[in-house]
Amino acid sequence: MNLAHWLDRAAKAYPNRPALMTGQSVVADYATFARRSAALAGSLRAAGRAPGDRIAIIAGNCTDYLDILFGLWWGGFAAVPINAKLHGAEIGWILEHSDAVTAFVGADLETEIAAHAPDTLQALTVIGSAAYRSMIQAEQRPILDRSPNDLAWLFYTSGTTGRPKGAMLTHRNLMAMSLAYLTDVDPTSPGQTLLHAAPMSHGSGLYAMAHVARFAVNAVPESGGFDPAEIMGFVNARPETSMFAAPTMTKRLVDCPDDVRLGAFRTIIWGGAPMLVPDIRRALDRFGPVFAQIYGQGETPMTTTVLSKADITDHTHPRWLERLGSAGIVNSVVEVRVGDAEDRALPLGEAGEVLVRGDTVMAGYWADQQATAETLRGGWLHTGDVGVFDADGYLTLKDRSKDLIISGGSNVYPREVEEVLIAHPAVKEVSVIGRPDPDWGEVVVAFVVGDADPATLDAHCLEKIARFKRPKDYVFVDALPKNNYGKILKTELREMDRDSRSAETKHGS
Ligand code: AMP
Repeated sequence: MNLAHWLDRAAKAYPNRPALMTGQSVVADYATFARRSAALAGSLRAAGRAPGDRIAIIAGNCTDYLDILFGLWWGGFAAVPINAKLHGAEIGWILEHSDAVTAFVGADLETEIAAHAPDTLQALTVIGSAAYRSMIQAEQRPILDRSPNDLAWLFYTSGTTGRPKGAMLTHRNLMAMSLAYLTDVDPTSPGQTLLHAAPMSHGSGLYAMAHVARFAVNAVPESGGFDPAEIMGFVNARPETSMFAAPTMTKRLVDCPDDVRLGAFRTIIWGGAPMLVPDIRRALDRFGPVFAQIYGQGETPMTTTVLSKADITDHTHPRWLERLGSAGIVNSVVEVRVGDAEDRALPLGEAGEVLVRGDTVMAGYWADQQATAETLRGGWLHTGDVGVFDADGYLTLKDRSKDLIISGGSNVYPREVEEVLIAHPAVKEVSVIGRPDPDWGEVVVAFVVGDADPATLDAHCLEKIARFKRPKDYVFVDALPKNNYGKILKTELREMDRDSRSAETKHGS
């Protein structure tokens, strides 16, 4: 089955229902959305593009994104959505690696992408141009049959270390992901709205399909970006809106002074990185019981575990705080195991690698057999995340195995130290890393945004965690290095730390 059938079905049953919005304006009903997608498919096929060809989309958020995405599936192509905030050279690398034959690009990006386009790219179409407009009015094609195992979305990971990898997501993967979203994360009714304030090339875009499946509305802010005041205005005018937000975005919403009506936000889903418990509590105080958390990765898109709205809200539960610090329970379409070095299930309470299998797990990495074999060995997706299950089935993520600090032979999970430090009122943001040390193997170092002094933070840590876990050094910075999705780059922090240490040594000698 082809994902495009969801759009076709919606257009037939509810042609006049609003489907796409920009700001408060409906820009397409389901009939128009489907017509444009079928025409785009027709024009690409007429231009000689073959089923299975990879076709890239590089644009800020806009409703055309969805006309194109569904149009590509309609015609049997594989979409390669690329983060528009990447450098031209990085985009060029992905275009070449994915062997994309055509790219749809935002008008503002044309020059930069053209400058870095590989020879393999045969056409570049600017979204909104005359050529584009004629494509969405071309002769329509019927949906091309696809097997559930055919490639639908080549998802390039955010690459916090090294080159991004292309996770091959099939029609089956995306359908299972959408059904799991509707079952576990945010049951959605016709007419309700998903606001794409986070990049559509990543998490937010992946949620578009579930909303088409439920005849709901996909909306894009007028600015195409993330502006807390604009979002408040949007949801005040259009209650029952859900959105995906990385923890850094959620924090900015919480800090936005504008008023928001009760019931304006239906659901705010955070994921992609941990949100520390004090930040979750502030968010709940501000917006009420609207939060859900998801844990996933490009390799099992948005689907591994979920902490539901009900769990986040149930503060009468004796283990509420523990649960808030967890990533929730296993999604309904996957199996999750915390495994040892041989992938055997570990007893409850013991930390090990999080392994996933089920219908959302990718088919493999594009053009990388070795990484595929390593990551999918034994039929399990090896996430590289360290987690621990409790007796109730809640998974708490420790840290990525490479972020674990081993100091004097003891494991220190950075997140645990970060949770303690962020609870101090003078600390705005914090990230903890290990620094190589001749005596201890590694020592704990905290990078802090805020104006506390080390002695105060030390005393604060000693009240809450074991002595060996408290930072041996505090480095005060104006901002933490983050990637385009707002994830803190610990690799970069470790490099910064190494560089500043070697500069100090040189000075001293
Ligand atoms: P990406 O493939 O770029 O979405 O990155 C996925 C990685 O982000 C996961 O492997 C985790 O390390 C991290 N991550 C995703 N969701 C969460 C979450 N809810 N809490 C903590 N870390 C998360």
